[in-house]
Amino acid sequence: MRIANLSGRLALIVDGRAVDVEQASDGLFPADPQDVYERWEEFCGWAAGADLPAGAAFDPAGLGSPAPAPRQTLAIGLNYRDHAAESGFAVPQGLPPVFTKFVTSISGPVTEVKLPVEGHTDWEVELVAVIGRRAEGVSEAEAWSHVAGLAVGQDISERVVQLAGPAPQFSLGKSFPGFAPIGPWLVTPDEFADPDDLELRCAINGEEVQKGRTRDLIHSVPALIAGLSAVLPLLPGDVIFTGTPAGVGVGRDPQRFLAPGDVLESAIEGIGALRQTFVG
Ligand code: ZN
Repeated sequence: MRIANLSGRLALIVDGRAVDVEQASDGLFPADPQDVYERWEEFCGWAAGADLPAGAAFDPAGLGSPAPAPRQTLAIGLNYRDHAAESGFAVPQGLPPVFTKFVTSISGPVTEVKLPVEGHTDWEVELVAVIGRRAEGVSEAEAWSHVAGLAVGQDISERVVQLAGPAPQFSLGKSFPGFAPIGPWLVTPDEFADPDDLELRCAINGEEVQKGRTRDLIHSVPALIAGLSAVLPLLPGDVIFTGTPAGVGVGRDPQRFLAPGDVLESAIEGIGALRQTFVG
């Protein structure tokens, strides 16, 4: 199943067309996409048995994040060995670094992003998992059953702010407006032959800059949910950015950063793609 946020309303994506959930369910489920995760299992049961009307064509520019207002966003640093190496960090022992992307940075999949006036803005394609069932002290074996679905994310990062000061400002440097595009929709885990092995890649103006596979995550999605939920409860609708593979700009020689006019496309196998255009 695929669900989307179309102009702020929850939609099911069926054969590439959108079915409005509030209308199709006669108001059983509300239009707000964030609300569905509180009743995720009930919603999945309804969607599986519903006699849905024909969907409507839609413009991808009208899509918002499938989880537009999570109570918690947890983002993971240094979760691929090759990216830890290019960043000049040792692979962390135990839990990886965890920071947040503040909720105002979240956007839909096709956007224009204003570059901060000063600094160096970088790209990080990431698999995003959205929680569908409260997770507190869950084991790795149980973890996937707490995931509503997967989406493509970009952990856009302004490196000067991120790395400033004695305790680096990861959360601020990664939370400028539009720095957390998520989409293009949410795909439930059952849609993948192996949800633990998906190709992710991103390109700038058509030139590939990152390509990896989620099987190379140091902490897999189940391991992250087990490790994080041992510390704090993960709530329905929470978002996890799972980390980025090698190929970011700060790790290059010479370093490379996003410039006005650049078009960044980020894609994950079996899900779809994001498209960000940067302006000065
Ligand atoms: Zn990241």
